[in-house]
Amino acid sequence: MSSKRDFYEILGVSKTASADEIKKAYRKVAMQYHPDRNPGDKAAEEKFKEAAEAYEILSDADKRAQYDRFGHAAFGPGRGPGGGGHPGGMNMDDIFSQFGDIFGDDIFGSFFGGGGGRGGRGGQSRARGTRGSDLRVKIKLNFEEIAKGASKTIKVKKYVGCQTCGGSGAKDKSSVQTCGTCGGSGQVRRVQNTFLGQMQTVTTCPTCNGEGTSITAKCGSCKGDGRVFGEETVTVNIPAGVHEGIELRVEGKGNAGERGGYAGDLRVLIEEEPHAELHRDGLNVAYELYVSFPDAVFGTEVQVPTIDGKAKIKIPAGTQSGKIFRLKGKGFPSLQSYEKGDQLIHVNVWTPQHVSSEEKAMLEKMNGSQNFQPAPDKNSKSFFQKVKEMFE
Ligand SMILES: [Zn+2]
Ligand SMILES: [Zn+2]
Repeated sequence: MSSKRDFYEILGVSKTASADEIKKAYRKVAMQYHPDRNPGDKAAEEKFKEAAEAYEILSDADKRAQYDRFGHAAFGPGRGPGGGGHPGGMNMDDIFSQFGDIFGDDIFGSFFGGGGGRGGRGGQSRARGTRGSDLRVKIKLNFEEIAKGASKTIKVKKYVGCQTCGGSGAKDKSSVQTCGTCGGSGQVRRVQNTFLGQMQTVTTCPTCNGEGTSITAKCGSCKGDGRVFGEETVTVNIPAGVHEGIELRVEGKGNAGERGGYAGDLRVLIEEEPHAELHRDGLNVAYELYVSFPDAVFGTEVQVPTIDGKAKIKIPAGTQSGKIFRLKGKGFPSLQSYEKGDQLIHVNVWTPQHVSSEEKAMLEKMNGSQNFQPAPDKNSKSFFQKVKEMFE
């Protein structure tokens, strides 16, 4: 699963390919590996599916942008972009319904045995009702959840399929009539004479909009829509390494479509809950540590908070204020690579605000000693350099 090929590579196009180039490239690959041309060839079938999956993402501007930014991780771990119903990729029905868009007004039918067309798979594929709209929700995550990934179960108020009619929108079976224009296939075929001979074109039936049926009596629960307003519990799997503002897409978990149409997607906007002590900067985590003057002189061991619990660190004797310690790999993981950030600990030597007369006498005595006079190393980095480094 993790060795998924790059979508652009699968279609043989560059990352800057136009929508038209992607469509053309997909057509080429799909025809090459089409099951009708490669009967019984499992490898060809895999390539065919792979190409369909790549096209599914790259043909959609939003999904393509997400893929460009986050790679395969954009679509969640272990979840193919084909949709929630069939993890790990698209099934053949999805692929052939995709052909409706790309080959619908084309001469695709004639390439695969004239009258056969999509019928090669035995069943007829007809468009269902209107697709449901996408829904947006926000999910707030704390630092630990962002670092480790999280599974969140949320209740979403939305249109769900009507249970009474099973989404058909019809009162009963007898109130569903087959469309007279297309005979129920949802498509009309035309034969055209071209210089290559007769070519068949397939288009969506204009009478039923591809649904293949019309309804004479509507379902009482949904008034013929095939969907009702309700609620659904959705589990959203959030990969490790997301950040504020990222939008994840859960396919098919948006509003149900009308009369059995595909559901829209659920778009999940990630919000970051600020941490009481840690500050995020890209993949790194910054922490301001305060130590007393004697501790800075003698050295000490302190506990610091990290994304995953407390960590003990050693402050060596003679540590200057402004020193930065680095806990390697204690930052956030990257969403698109195996890279991990660090935790940077910025040391501040604490200066007391008020002192007693006894302390005052002690400090004055200390100040008289040559050892307490500042003598910074001329080669050491300036304060501003250190601050800059802290956020790099
Ligand atoms: Zn209904
Ligand atoms: Zn029709």
